[in-house]
Amino acid sequence: MDRRRVLNIYKALERHYGEPRIELVYRSDFELLISVILSAQTTDKKVNMVTPILFSRFPDACSLAEASPAEVEEIIREIGLFRAKARNIISSAKIICRDFGGRLPSDYKSLISLPGVGRKSANVILSALFGEQAITVDTHVKRLSYRIGFSNKKSPLTIEKDLMKIWPRRIWSSMSNYLILHGRYLCKARRPDCGACPIARLCEKRI
Ligand code: SF4
Repeated sequence: MDRRRVLNIYKALERHYGEPRIELVYRSDFELLISVILSAQTTDKKVNMVTPILFSRFPDACSLAEASPAEVEEIIREIGLFRAKARNIISSAKIICRDFGGRLPSDYKSLISLPGVGRKSANVILSALFGEQAITVDTHVKRLSYRIGFSNKKSPLTIEKDLMKIWPRRIWSSMSNYLILHGRYLCKARRPDCGACPIARLCEKRI
């Protein structure tokens, strides 16, 4: 797909969704990190339901570092994989408190050294907190990249490489956010609403 078409898709999504946003609710770098770890294989909505209690009980990395796994599990038990996630967020909090003075590191290598943080999560954090351009290939971006015609690949890393070639760098973060919103609200996995889609004329509709 040529860049002109990519930019037309971008502009149409921008008109439709406005400000490119992420839907996790957070008030600090620490809160975003924890929310991103919790959001693996569950919805942002569910994460947003448990984090207010979690963050009122453990407002920063050093307090969460001291938490008992049982107490954290109890608070987050409504979300999937809650035992593993409780372990991961406590371990990440310990590393941040011990090695980074309680502040979230701002480089990719340090971020992916935190338990529960992989490439996708690190990219979300780098783009949302540190203003870097990063492509986030989650389940929606993966599905829409194929449907729209951006990439034929199957693995997130190879899809990301394809997207890097055809998306101008300045739109990496915001286009990722638009595709996530679009996948959530219109181009859903089971029933894409092509009739109401603002990019229908530009999409290859490979469904
Ligand atoms: S036209 Fe249909 S398949 Fe293409 S992005 Fe829109 S909803 Fe998805």
